[in-house]
Amino acid sequence: MAKNKKWSVDDSANLYGIEKWGAGYFAADPSGDVVTTPLGLDNGARISLHEIATGLEERGMAMPVLLRIENILGSQIKRLHDSFSKVIQEIGYTGEYKGVFPIKVNQQEQVLEAISQFGRKYNHGLEAGSKPELIAAISMLNNRDACLICNGYKDEEFVDLGLYATKMGLKCFFVLEMPGELDLILERAEKIGVLPLLGLRIKLSTKAEGQWADSGGETSVFGLSMSEVIDVIDRLKAENKLDCLQLQHYHIGSQIPNIQDIRAGVLEACRIYEELVKEGAAMGYLDLGGGLAVDYDGSKTNCPSSRNYSVEEYCYDIIETINSHLNKSNIAHPTIITESGRATVAYYSILLFNVLDVTAITPNPIQEQMPKTTYDLLDNLLATYNMVSAKDIQECYNDALFYKSQSQQLFKHGQISIREKAMADDLLKHILIKITKTAKELDYVPEEIEKIEKLIPDIYYGNFSLFQSLPDVWAIGQLFPVMPIHRLNEEPTRNAIIADITCDCDGRISSFPGYPHTRETIHLHKLKNNEEYYLGVFLVGAYQETLGDLHNLFGDTNVVSINVRENGSYEFVREQEGDSVEDVLSYVEYDVKGIKKRMKDFAEDSIRQGYITVKERKTILRSFDEGLRGYTYFEKE
Ligand SMILES: *Cc1c(COP(=O)(O)O)cnc(C)c1O
Repeated sequence: MAKNKKWSVDDSANLYGIEKWGAGYFAADPSGDVVTTPLGLDNGARISLHEIATGLEERGMAMPVLLRIENILGSQIKRLHDSFSKVIQEIGYTGEYKGVFPIKVNQQEQVLEAISQFGRKYNHGLEAGSKPELIAAISMLNNRDACLICNGYKDEEFVDLGLYATKMGLKCFFVLEMPGELDLILERAEKIGVLPLLGLRIKLSTKAEGQWADSGGETSVFGLSMSEVIDVIDRLKAENKLDCLQLQHYHIGSQIPNIQDIRAGVLEACRIYEELVKEGAAMGYLDLGGGLAVDYDGSKTNCPSSRNYSVEEYCYDIIETINSHLNKSNIAHPTIITESGRATVAYYSILLFNVLDVTAITPNPIQEQMPKTTYDLLDNLLATYNMVSAKDIQECYNDALFYKSQSQQLFKHGQISIREKAMADDLLKHILIKITKTAKELDYVPEEIEKIEKLIPDIYYGNFSLFQSLPDVWAIGQLFPVMPIHRLNEEPTRNAIIADITCDCDGRISSFPGYPHTRETIHLHKLKNNEEYYLGVFLVGAYQETLGDLHNLFGDTNVVSINVRENGSYEFVREQEGDSVEDVLSYVEYDVKGIKKRMKDFAEDSIRQGYITVKERKTILRSFDEGLRGYTYFEKE
């Protein structure tokens, strides 16, 4: 930014990249707030997230809150179906498109409710990979034109559940993961008196790059090999049930950043599909699994947190590949199914939290007179500080590093006192700060100097648990967009990392979308007295909720959904209180009554031994009770 120019909301938008990763659902408003535009950027409704956050706190919903904007989910389902229909028409493909939502991506009842509500119009179905998911799916789907795909290993109970669903008219496909499942399904189907719809999960040789590369390829643990496919076909032929085989499925991984891999997978699948038809199977459905990526950093590249294609390109490449391949062999166009989970739900949830405190590295002011120290350590540091200038920047940095190591040695060997060491540390910080400031005047900044900034970040303590709410940040280094949801018309002058309130040193965010490179720090505003500072972590709707855990016994956060009306007003539609302390203790098998009794006994003992009075016992036990009922996160008075 040019000097003297006032910081503007646009500068914030560029800094945080909101237009790059926001997919048209989020924007920096001239008022300085982040707004959500769930119906599209030009479609009226612009709702301030800051207003929502403060409104929630006024209603007694404490931070952290997981905010769901339901219309975004609706828009994402619409976007996927509209894109496929458009391409299907354009190319003259004669099959249809059917989407299904894989439940494992977000199993919360609220989410499934919203999906069946918004997906109804498109006959959007569900995919289940376990018995609980299947039961949830059957109870939520209520649509005989939508597909219900059963993946995962199936025991008799699983199979029976699916067969009953079939019997009630649901389009329920059993996708065989192992050859052995076939006997069980045929046997149970015979008994229950229904013809099962069968699918095959095929092990493709195509491998996709990215975080989930091992889901694909010949060594993947899922799916049938070619010889197993043949066995299944022969078995079905022998039973005269080849008509039951209607679907071919594969899944080569989630978050596939490169469109080339998607194309390669489809092409290989087409070849197998062609062969299955030639073998005499009924077929009719080609299920391409998940993999449609989310551009978390907005870079539009094939790096793991991005994707080098749009949803439209994804649809085009799929339909075009299938169309041209099957036309060559004169095979009827199948119904195409995709199991997009991440791309469907990621955008619609935002984690909101307040900042509790900041540790800045602000050193104490420099004293004019330094005490005499061994080897003139402090005088030398002061001299270095005074010498920092644009032309000597690298030299001063080198000196600072030398004195830093010298001060460590001197302290270790008892040659400087703890007070002198503290002064040396402060001087070093002053030098680094002066160097980074001076570097801003340079046209060319040496790489080493550029990196100093990240050595001296402030730490912003956020009221949330990374392990509960953003487990993938910890587990796989997933990148999520993070930014303040207000004050965007003020320049964020602090350079920071974000720590959570678990006492685990891994509980921090120190990787942020940046352009052109991922950044290790984020620019944030100085806290104001008497004003909360709110941050949002965006695109967290996929995989984070049930993968999260109770590290340090921080529980589920409060969850609120809003629904935006055409006229731009909104309502809170689903509210779900987070876990109380009592809840999380019972999750780890504590008996809360027992806890209370032990506490009472101990208080009674404390009276007997003269530590507390009877009146104090009452106060103590009351606050203990309130503590048990309270939220696990930091609560305000
Ligand atoms: C996880 C999974 C999905 C979802 O993948 P996304 O990349 O989130 O769309 C789809 N199908 C199967 C079989 C899966 O295991």
